[in-house]
Amino acid sequence: MKSYDIIVVGSGLAGLYCALLASRYGNVLVLTKAQLEDCNTYHAQGGIAAALGPSDSTELHVADTLAAGAGLGDPAAIRILVETGRRAVRDLIELGVPFDRENGEVVFTTEGAHSRARILHAGGDATGKNVEISLARVVRENPRISIREHCEARTLLVRNGRVVGVRAFDRATGDAGEFEGAAVVMATGGIGQLFSQTTNPDVATGDGIALAFRAGADVADLEFVQFHPTALAVPGAPRFLISEAVRGVGGILRNGAGERFVLRYDPRGELAPRDVVARAIFFEAQRRGEPCAYLDVTEMGVDFFRRRFPTIAHACARYGIDVAREPIPVAPAAHYLMGGIRTNTWGETTLPGLYAVGECACTGVHGANRLASNSLLEAVAFAARIAQRQFERVDDHCGRQGIDHVPEDDLKDDLCIEVGAGRAGSAPPLAKATLRDLTWTLAGLTRNREGLEKLESISAAWQFSMDEGEGGRDEECRNLVLLARLLATAALRREESRGAHYRTDFPQPVPAWQRRIVLHASDGMRKENR
Ligand SMILES: Cc1cc2nc3c(=O)[nH]c(=O)nc-3n(C[C@H](O)[C@H](O)[C@H](O)COP(=O)(O)OP(=O)(O)OC[C@H]3O[C@@H](n4cnc5c(N)ncnc54)[C@H](O)[C@@H]3O)c2cc1C
Repeated sequence: MKSYDIIVVGSGLAGLYCALLASRYGNVLVLTKAQLEDCNTYHAQGGIAAALGPSDSTELHVADTLAAGAGLGDPAAIRILVETGRRAVRDLIELGVPFDRENGEVVFTTEGAHSRARILHAGGDATGKNVEISLARVVRENPRISIREHCEARTLLVRNGRVVGVRAFDRATGDAGEFEGAAVVMATGGIGQLFSQTTNPDVATGDGIALAFRAGADVADLEFVQFHPTALAVPGAPRFLISEAVRGVGGILRNGAGERFVLRYDPRGELAPRDVVARAIFFEAQRRGEPCAYLDVTEMGVDFFRRRFPTIAHACARYGIDVAREPIPVAPAAHYLMGGIRTNTWGETTLPGLYAVGECACTGVHGANRLASNSLLEAVAFAARIAQRQFERVDDHCGRQGIDHVPEDDLKDDLCIEVGAGRAGSAPPLAKATLRDLTWTLAGLTRNREGLEKLESISAAWQFSMDEGEGGRDEECRNLVLLARLLATAALRREESRGAHYRTDFPQPVPAWQRRIVLHASDGMRKENR
């Protein structure tokens, strides 16, 4: 079995930045299930938030992030996000990420619910691509980092209650292999593929969260899925993202009659938080019996639009939309998971030896809703914290087993729920498409008890049948089934509406629910799910 100081699973921004910093203190293996650049990060458009501008401050960025989180954001973690993140963004600039500049200075733009212009972007609306390519280049050149592409992590190896490595499947050769690591960092991204309507690429199947949960790590806030208001809504086309930044510089949402409607739902209009705008589009389309809303970019000037958003303009043209003459059809789609593997502010999970970072982690910074462009920031901020922790471990000569696992940032008053193994029950034949349609319909933008109970019981039955038949199973599908069940369990229990979680049977926030839901696998579930 090959042995490393640190194994990083995933090669988006969180994984690559963590690998890069950690390589200063040890040898690193990066496992990734497709090509290095296949990840959510590559698709990020709007940019990365950092309180670096002249009129900005830590306090303002913290306040905006807390407000977006609808009472569930963790203030201590948010302060670390803003302060450590700002340093990490400076580091990205030094590493050569080509952020857009004017007169030699990096420019900042604004996005919904940010009180200052603090979003750095690159290539106009190709921020993620530029960030990912820049980091991939540096990581590839680093002799202390080994990379295994097309290598899918399938199980965490646990010995005496500690994660000691990863069992993985090489998609290119069909071989299984085991890799030993003193620390294993999950950086596997989000769960967008759980929904039939999503902006996320194929790799976003929540593997890391499912693996960690089965191994015994706590997961939290899984009911909070952000639905982006404006994904391209052309029948048959992928749900390509039309960035928030388009509304930030004057894009206007209209209904089928050409009326600007969002102000009727919220006085902040197009720049209200994402969940508010997404529901406004959903309810307006429902009220008028229309399939989508329409984003009008003519007021900002079509030439400006094409210059500032070349990727979006190109995608519109590809699907036959001439933005000079017609608005862009848009509808909400699953975009981002606020929850994930529960960590403290050092990226440590509740399972010793296991760390989590980026979208698969739940550091508590997003609470019930994420502020736009804070996720790339979270990826670098907490990757830096994990690397720093590795440095401290090496530096104090205690040996890696000698450092206690420190859950110092635990929130109080969490509601902890134990989830048991799958249950036999009636369910339609399992197919990924059926699962994704069901999750979109029953646990999407709006939810209620009946729908969530149905999803929970169907996914528990599918889980039962999949865990029974070990051979030849589709691991991504198995992970999605588990995530559907966990999401339904948490969303069912949260009898209120808060942030991105909206229950039609409990449409208001309830003060008593200002607490997080933490899920933990029962002993039976852990035994059966190895
Ligand atoms: C269209 C779009 C636009 C966005 N725009 C913005 C934006 O402007 N600003 C912003 O802050 N955020 C944005 N986001 C969100 C942001 O891009 C992501 O949250 C962030 O990039 C996540 O980074 P990550 O490194 O955690 O995960 P990812 O970048 O998704 O990387 C996950 C990696 O894990 C790998 N992986 C998964 N499972 C396994 C496995 N079993 N074994 C091995 N490898 C595995 C994947 O292949 C991938 O390499 C956007 C997201 C999308 C989809």
